[in-house]
Amino acid sequence: MMQHTPLVDPFARAITYLRVSVTDRCDFRCVYCMAENMTFLPKRDLLTLEELDRLCSAFIRLGVRKLRITGGEPLVRRDIMTFFNAMGRHLDNGTLEELTLTTNGSQLEKFASGLYAAGVRRVNVSLDTLDNDKFARVTRWGRLDQVMRGLDAAQAAGLRVKINTVALKGFNEDELFALVAWCAARGMDLTFIEVMPMGDLGNEQRIDQYWSLKDVRARLAERYCLLDLAERTGGPARYVRLTETGQKIGFITPLSHNFCESCNRVRVTCTGEIYTCLGQEDRADLRAPLRAAPDDDAPLVAAIRDAVADKPKGHDFDYSRQRADGQVSRHMSHTGG
Ligand code: SF4
Repeated sequence: MMQHTPLVDPFARAITYLRVSVTDRCDFRCVYCMAENMTFLPKRDLLTLEELDRLCSAFIRLGVRKLRITGGEPLVRRDIMTFFNAMGRHLDNGTLEELTLTTNGSQLEKFASGLYAAGVRRVNVSLDTLDNDKFARVTRWGRLDQVMRGLDAAQAAGLRVKINTVALKGFNEDELFALVAWCAARGMDLTFIEVMPMGDLGNEQRIDQYWSLKDVRARLAERYCLLDLAERTGGPARYVRLTETGQKIGFITPLSHNFCESCNRVRVTCTGEIYTCLGQEDRADLRAPLRAAPDDDAPLVAAIRDAVADKPKGHDFDYSRQRADGQVSRHMSHTGG
């Protein structure tokens, strides 16, 4: 029985949304996320595809209704479609409402139709600029035309696409209206993500390009009529509709406190660590209980329940405790609402 009682934290918040990273690897090296020479985790540290299946399935039995797959870049994980297809069974039997992913778009040309067949209906694609040179600069290894082909494939396959754009002063400020118009023309929603000024990224480029979303919003309001939407996702995103285009524009301000009371989510890293709060470093290990009992999910469920029982009431964003090696900013760039 205990195994099936829904997950509710001590502040009466039901946990219905799970974000799971399936790899720390990526085929891009975005300057705000990774150093150019990255050392990735040894394979044995990562949850296997079977372990990821057991983990996600346990959360779904415990009441998770939305599952978002992230990375690194989730589509560079070998055989990842096996995992998406396996999760499709939870969509088929109605226990899972939504299976989505956040991706850099580089592999969508190859995987879009397979994702649709697995039951994915929406994808978030991270894209900060529509300029070839700037795109190559910010992603280092990425090429814009590859992502554009991925977007074409995604839309041709029937996937709804939302673009996630990190707002960077002096980088894509001049593209605000171009991005909005491009998304409107393609029928895509657009969400801006605010980043905090971070320190040096491993002696690499310094990101001191803080562009406040208040300012983004004010500039949009100069040209469009913004209608606030009541819609809440249980996360940090706020949405408006542009009356002129009908398009939904989101704003993600990871530092805001004002969604804590409705927070419905936890996230799990590719090594099986569960983080129960966006802004705190508190975490617990789910890999050990997964591996300790390969045929019995009871220890895993107990560990999940313990972690959720400790979910903090709110976050304080104590940056002094966070590392300046890109972990935090990557998390933000993939917060995704
Ligand atoms: S921000 Fe995303 S696309 Fe860029 S390097 Fe990080 S994981 Fe890859």
